[in-house]
Amino acid sequence: MNIKYDSLIGLSEVMLTFNDGPHSTLTPRLLDLLKEENIKAMFFVLGINVAANNNIKIVKRAFEEGHIIGNHTYFHRNLRSLSDFEIQTEILNTEGFIKDYMKTPKPFRPPYGATNSRINRIVRELGYVNVLWNVDTLDWKDKSIKWVKSAIPQIYAREYNVVLMHDTYESTINNVLELIKAIKGKKERYEFISYV
Ligand SMILES: [Zn+2]
Repeated sequence: MNIKYDSLIGLSEVMLTFNDGPHSTLTPRLLDLLKEENIKAMFFVLGINVAANNNIKIVKRAFEEGHIIGNHTYFHRNLRSLSDFEIQTEILNTEGFIKDYMKTPKPFRPPYGATNSRINRIVRELGYVNVLWNVDTLDWKDKSIKWVKSAIPQIYAREYNVVLMHDTYESTINNVLELIKAIKGKKERYEFISYV
C-alpha cells in the first residue's frame, strides 16, 4: 500500500491509526489504554458507526482527549465504484456528525485504501487530505497476538510509520499494548506522534 508522506502534516516517527469505529465498548477501552500510555492516535470513523448507539459521545471523548478524528466515509464502500455524487455523499454524511471534532486540514482515509485521481480530486475539493498507511498490521486477519508479532519488525525497519489497525476487533484491543510496549522499548529510535 502506498503512502503519501506529503499529505501527512507533522509526521515524524510512529502514528497509531484505528479504522472503522467507533465501537461502543471496544473504543472506550482503547481510549482508556491510550490515556494510560499517554499516546495520541488517529481514529478514522465510519458514519454508520458514529450514528449507532449514540457513539458520537465516543468521538467527542476521543477528540477531547487529544486524538485526531478523521473521516472514513459512511458505509465503507469502495469509492472507485461510485459516482462523484455518491462519493461526496459518503464523505459529507459522515462529516455532518463529526465536523465539530475534526481539525484542518480534515483527515480522510478511503475504505480499502482505494483511490484514484477522480476520488483524490473530490476529497481535495471537500477540504480533506488523504492519510494512508505504510504498516498494515492485518489485525483483521490474525485475531491473536500474531498481528503484533508481524507488525513489530515492519516498524523497526522504518523511520516513519503510520500503523493501520481497527478498533472494532477485541483481539486488537487486547494486544495493542504489546505493540506499544515494543515501540516504547526502542524509545531511542521511536517517538509516538500525532497529526497536528
Ligand atoms: Zn476501513
